[in-house]
Amino acid sequence: MKRLERFEDCRNDVIPYIEGVLRDFYDEKMQAFLADESLQVISTHKSHYAFRVLFREPVKSIICIFWAELEEDSEKMQCIINAIGEYFDEDGDIGKKLEPFECCHNDVRPYIPRVLDRLFPEKRQVVQADIDNGSLQIISSHIKKENRYFTVKFSKPVKSIIYINWEELKEKAEEKIIYGIAHEIGHCYARDGESRLLEKEANDWLKRWGNFEDIIEKVEYLAPKGEEEGYTIGYEWAMKNPEELSKYNCFLKLWNDLKRREKDGLEEELIQQAKSDFVRTKSDKTDNEDIEKGIAYGVMKRVREILEEKNIGKGGD
Ligand SMILES: [Zn+2]
Repeated sequence: MKRLERFEDCRNDVIPYIEGVLRDFYDEKMQAFLADESLQVISTHKSHYAFRVLFREPVKSIICIFWAELEEDSEKMQCIINAIGEYFDEDGDIGKKLEPFECCHNDVRPYIPRVLDRLFPEKRQVVQADIDNGSLQIISSHIKKENRYFTVKFSKPVKSIIYINWEELKEKAEEKIIYGIAHEIGHCYARDGESRLLEKEANDWLKRWGNFEDIIEKVEYLAPKGEEEGYTIGYEWAMKNPEELSKYNCFLKLWNDLKRREKDGLEEELIQQAKSDFVRTKSDKTDNEDIEKGIAYGVMKRVREILEEKNIGKGGD
């Protein structure tokens, strides 16, 4: 197993606390913690109905910190101590070898076959196989400790986790629940996708590989729609304004080499660049952040195409 990018899915705000805990309280265990190549510490910064984490390399253990709920808490250090302490506690959940669905609440499980039934057989088989072999884990909120963190150790290497915030989702209409789970599955299999717009790609994957069109319309999930609208605007603008595009090359060159956390900063720059180009061309479409993001990525699509065309012109790479 290749060494994991340490704290790949952990926010920059959280990392100093983890390092502090390791330094001050678990001195003799620090090496053991750092040496575990299949442990990932992840954090979330917003409250969501659901989220997913896709790991670069398979993991065996996760410590997940819910930073949105912990950030303002005076006892956050103690909470992180507890979370890391559980990692070493062989009798706790983290010491238990967990099978598929063992972290998924009984109330959530019946919805999973209902989501899978909407997938076309070809993809249903793929997803089902990943669930069966444990590489895709569906986890629900009942495992969260004091609403602030959870820790789990899996029996087999895990490539993706989907976390269902059941406390939030259970009050919603059935369609919203099915969509909530399906959308995260879409993220897991679409990954960056062609446009690299994660929300749009997740829903596009569902529409392409299953019967989700109606449900996606009904839940009126705004982010993917905004991204899609902006993507078309950005692409069409780029087609008409080729002289504007060379400055986008640097974003493209960097993108593939970046770690996930570093992409956030680059994405922000990319959006600002696209936005300022649009202000100059007097577009009135940059009033919505999903559309803005879509525009930036639509421009990038055209930049990629131009680079590919140039490559072919030179006789390939
Ligand atoms: Zn999403």
